[in-house]
Amino acid sequence: MIQKAKGTYDIYGDYGKRLLYVEELIEGLMEKYNYEYFRTPIFESSSLFHRGVGDTTDIVTKETYDFKDRGDRDLTLRPEGTAGIVRSYIENKMYGNHNIPVKAWYYGPMFRYERPQSGRYREFYQFGVEAFGSSDALMDAEIISIPVNLYKLLGLKGIKVNINTLGDNESRNNYRNALIEYFKPYINDLCEDCQERYNKNPLRILDCKVDHNLDVMKNAPRTIDYLNETSKEHFENVKKYLDSMNIDYEINTNLVRGLDYYTHTVFEVEASVEGFGSQNVLCGGGRYDNLVETLDGPKTSGVGFAMGMERLMTALEYENVEMPLIDGIDCYVIPMSENEKDYAMHICGDLRLNGFITEIDYNNRNLKNNFKNADKFNSKFIIIIGEQEKDSGILTIKNNGAKEEYKISHDELIDFLDENMGE
Ligand code: AMP
Repeated sequence: MIQKAKGTYDIYGDYGKRLLYVEELIEGLMEKYNYEYFRTPIFESSSLFHRGVGDTTDIVTKETYDFKDRGDRDLTLRPEGTAGIVRSYIENKMYGNHNIPVKAWYYGPMFRYERPQSGRYREFYQFGVEAFGSSDALMDAEIISIPVNLYKLLGLKGIKVNINTLGDNESRNNYRNALIEYFKPYINDLCEDCQERYNKNPLRILDCKVDHNLDVMKNAPRTIDYLNETSKEHFENVKKYLDSMNIDYEINTNLVRGLDYYTHTVFEVEASVEGFGSQNVLCGGGRYDNLVETLDGPKTSGVGFAMGMERLMTALEYENVEMPLIDGIDCYVIPMSENEKDYAMHICGDLRLNGFITEIDYNNRNLKNNFKNADKFNSKFIIIIGEQEKDSGILTIKNNGAKEEYKISHDELIDFLDENMGE
């Protein structure tokens, strides 16, 4: 038997229903925030991710799905959404033909060759947003408010927002130099990856999953102590606007996030319920004022986040969050014999186009088994089509709850159901 590829999973049943509910809520929320829906390709030129995500990140050095197509092009399955959206923003010249800021949202599969474990897959889904063209702290605060408000709408309570700032380029450089000085005597105590990070991007050392418990990590210099005035003011404003929206947060000075492109605000939202597991970061993001330029666009501020859908679904399950899912169907149609199937199908079409969830018996069951089946579907009404019904156009309808039977003409069927469907 052929099995699914390692690190992937199937969706069906109740999980599928719950996921669709969450997706609809995301779509509705993005409409209210007035973000524009973007869909970019699932594969892009490999160089986009090398430059966009960064040559020194684990994502690019160890985790991408790279391949050559039949035309010998180097392509990569996208490991994250930001690079593609930035490419699209530049390629479609949105800086010149769109309202500024351009506020984009996306949803789709991402691919990383990681070691699969609970909350970590090789194909996973992300919902994310990116906003281009505002350097104001309002934008950072708005971006952080989106996941917080989504969790609030869903009824997810056990969350914690962590924020930090890396400051602008000047502050970030000062901080970088301080880290180089600080780690110099400890370099041999660090893991092999961190020794490489020391040379290429020392900020990344603080992100290390191997070394994070070492004392040398805990006592490392803090970004906050290397901020210039502009950067301090920006961070103060972000906090002020979060406070004004009653969003609780904690400042976590070791939070630098894994990607090369962040400036100023970085944030993560984690599931704070005890026992959730180690993969508890539901969502992460921040400001990236250099990225558009790095990808050959005009100098443009950017800020965004990406949220993992699998971990969100686990958190919802963990907290037993209830969702108003549709339970049961409206009509179950029974053709009594081969001769009535065409008419029954015609009626099904009418019902479905008028908004009623409708099933038909596809398996030539007898009447008794059909009633049982209608019960299994929890159908509100049963419509029986025999020879007489087909000839006369007067249908036999049973209300499956009250067990009442009605004779209704085909013309009046929709009105009758509209009036009697109830809640
Ligand atoms: P990142 O793009 O690495 O900042 O990740 C953003 C969010 O995507 C994380 O907080 C997770 O919720 C989710 N995520 C990242 N990698 C994976 C993965 N391999 N499997 C499932 N979810 C992931």
